[in-house]
Amino acid sequence: MLKKVGIIGSGVAGVTLLKALADQTSAKNSFKTNKLNLQIALIERGRSFFDTFARSPSSNPVVVIHNPVTSRTEYQLFCNQGIKRMSSWITSMEGRFKTRIAYKPGLLHVPKNIHEQKKWEGIFNKNPFYQQNIVEKSILNKYLKKNVSSDIGIWDPNGFWLNPRKFLLLCLKDVVRILKKDAKILMGTEVRKIKVLEKGVLLTVRTNDSEWEVFFDKVILATGSKTKELLSQNSLYIGEKDYSGKTLNLYTNSGQLSRFTIPKEYYRFFPNFIYCKGGYVTPIIKGAIYSGSSYDKIKNEDSFLIDQNNKYNFARVCNIYDKFNTNINVSYYRSERCTSSDKLPVVGKIGNRSNSDLYIFSALASRGFSYGPLLAEMLASEIISEIFDSSVENEVVSNRFSQLVNPFRSV
Ligand SMILES: Cc1cc2nc3c(=O)[nH]c(=O)nc-3n(C[C@H](O)[C@H](O)[C@H](O)COP(=O)(O)OP(=O)(O)OC[C@H]3O[C@@H](n4cnc5c(N)ncnc54)[C@H](O)[C@@H]3O)c2cc1C
Repeated sequence: MLKKVGIIGSGVAGVTLLKALADQTSAKNSFKTNKLNLQIALIERGRSFFDTFARSPSSNPVVVIHNPVTSRTEYQLFCNQGIKRMSSWITSMEGRFKTRIAYKPGLLHVPKNIHEQKKWEGIFNKNPFYQQNIVEKSILNKYLKKNVSSDIGIWDPNGFWLNPRKFLLLCLKDVVRILKKDAKILMGTEVRKIKVLEKGVLLTVRTNDSEWEVFFDKVILATGSKTKELLSQNSLYIGEKDYSGKTLNLYTNSGQLSRFTIPKEYYRFFPNFIYCKGGYVTPIIKGAIYSGSSYDKIKNEDSFLIDQNNKYNFARVCNIYDKFNTNINVSYYRSERCTSSDKLPVVGKIGNRSNSDLYIFSALASRGFSYGPLLAEMLASEIISEIFDSSVENEVVSNRFSQLVNPFRSV
């Protein structure tokens, strides 16, 4: 039985979902006589990967992965599991393609101010997860080779950074290896209209100057910060339209990552680990340090805002070393993230009908690379079992995190 799946968006959500669908199809087909025949199209409006890379937050030059300090125990567990899945994807792809995409120098996380320090102390007392990684002032002073203002911090030995572009390209390479001609990547193709049918979904897409319609059995919106716009243009809702409780809302905010070129004579003043204080500072990567990232509610790209963010990001670098005698060259990367009203991702089926064939994989906020693979695996297993195995109990129902990210949750 041939089924067609369309994924809109080639950021970390779209690409990890494509890979999870390919992996799970191949695993099922390895022992089934009745083979699954899935054709998947990844639809991306960027004209090429270079065009997409230039503006999407999934293609920043660097991303940092680490456990957050949070009072939400379930969310902490979810992030932790997400990071483990991400690490295992990286290990297997690094092995398969004999290349390196991630570096694990560990991460020192200190509270931004006394208010956050007090909050952290309360969290540490309630959640034993953090106990093993708490570091005291004397250790912080030793790590940073100076007298720091914080009394406590967290040393996350598993904190790492990676090259997200390389990660996405290796995921795609893996998909082509598994699905061959059954995976299609349609670049320069923008989805304009979405019509949810009784069975399946009809998309109106635009390529160059022509518009055409294409039918899919299942469609997933992995459109990042454009999700809200696409939903409202098509009068689509995340939860039930007539539901009386408060349903989720999506928001867009801009972020800025700055790249500071560090002259060789200063290399020795910077540690090899990642430093976090209301944002992160990487170790020196090919002669530069990356520091980010800010949250701007406005999309405005004015030079004042850009300059101000570069200053904030530089101030974070100066927490480590601030005695530069020369001007430090700076460049920046700005892009938009999608967040939800409760700051958790929104993943699963949407629309007014429980048997609708439209799904969302969005609102990954500031941690798309921490939980992209875990969420992709959860969603892929829901989609595959719906298409091919609807009589068998859906594995995803038993996944403890599916409720956490359910588009129908009330807030
Ligand atoms: C400055 C900054 C720093 C960050 N740092 C980190 C970090 O260190 N670690 C971390 O884990 N996360 C980080 N994040 C967050 C992370 O980048 C995001 O969570 C993640 O990239 C979101 O991925 P996505 O696939 O949901 O969306 P996107 O990356 O926005 O991808 C969506 C894609 O959909 C395409 N699209 C949209 N509409 C259409 C349409 N109608 N038709 C066809 N295609 C369409 C877009 O062109 C785009 O390519 C950072 C974000 C920012 C802004």
